[in-house]
Amino acid sequence: MSVRSATLMTTAIAGLLAGLPALAQDVNVYSSRHYDSDDALYEAFTEATGIQVNRLEGEADELNARLQAEGEQSPADILLTVDAGRIWRADQLGLLQPIESEVLDERIPEHLRDPEGHWYGLSQRARLIFYSMDRVSNPPQTYADLADPAYEGQVCIRSSSNIYNLSLMGSIIAHEGEEAAQEWAAGVVENFARDPEGGDTDQLRGIVSGACDIAVANSYYFARALAQDVEGVTGSTDSIGIVFPNQETTGTHVNIAAAGVVTHAKNRENAIAFLEFLTTPEAQAHFADQNNEFPAVPGVPVGEVAASLGEFEQDTLNLDELGKNQAKAQEIFNAVGWP
Ligand code: FE
Repeated sequence: MSVRSATLMTTAIAGLLAGLPALAQDVNVYSSRHYDSDDALYEAFTEATGIQVNRLEGEADELNARLQAEGEQSPADILLTVDAGRIWRADQLGLLQPIESEVLDERIPEHLRDPEGHWYGLSQRARLIFYSMDRVSNPPQTYADLADPAYEGQVCIRSSSNIYNLSLMGSIIAHEGEEAAQEWAAGVVENFARDPEGGDTDQLRGIVSGACDIAVANSYYFARALAQDVEGVTGSTDSIGIVFPNQETTGTHVNIAAAGVVTHAKNRENAIAFLEFLTTPEAQAHFADQNNEFPAVPGVPVGEVAASLGEFEQDTLNLDELGKNQAKAQEIFNAVGWP
């Protein structure tokens, strides 16, 4: 080998090392969201960038515990969760790092991402009021209405420790203050049709069975019953009315599936590229539609089933506020005896 070609080779290797992504061809995703059809999305990313996506799935709190235990040794680059309150918990534990991306800042509305770049919303769901069209002629139009004595014995909603309710309560605290929030919670408890039981789908089932006249659930649970067979709901959806609450005031409370770059990510650049890819119109449409959600990026067409629920004004409170109010929210729920 001549001196000249050896020098060229050294230069070539140095060039490769400088362009790190050429060597690091992986991005490792810890996800509490699981849809088989997401594989196609990840393959499209690999095709476009050459970066392989490796997924590890688990329940949100388990993944947080795992990341804490693994510490610097963690192979994870991205954490993906399905509620702002959950990604906020991960962030509180120091599991996420700030990133800067003009692409993400431009595409994702400000209220759907962490002010410091620790996490970004990728799809949205609305927390809605459903009611029996046969038995309720004057349905609640706001979250506040759920506490109206006119609905005594009619309201079904799941337990207070559930993150969806903690996030909703977090938004009410932010808008109305703690005192009003507590009054509201006490009023809702007064209106319970039964003690909280089951998940959001069970509240919808309650409308069908007659146990509840009014129920609170995330938009995608009802949409799912329209799109596929959900026992106890599908077949009766025509008799269930939908209210997008607070249209005249603060807008409907929304929540997000969100992702952030893990503190000890080894493939930081790949991770940012992956997040940016997930905000492209094609990826957004697919990502949201898998769970009948609304895209986070404005202007991306809403999937057919989610779109059939209707258009609405959303609450633009920064979702970071929900996390900050999480502990207070639980305190208030406990104080009023909301199980
Ligand atoms: Fe859910």
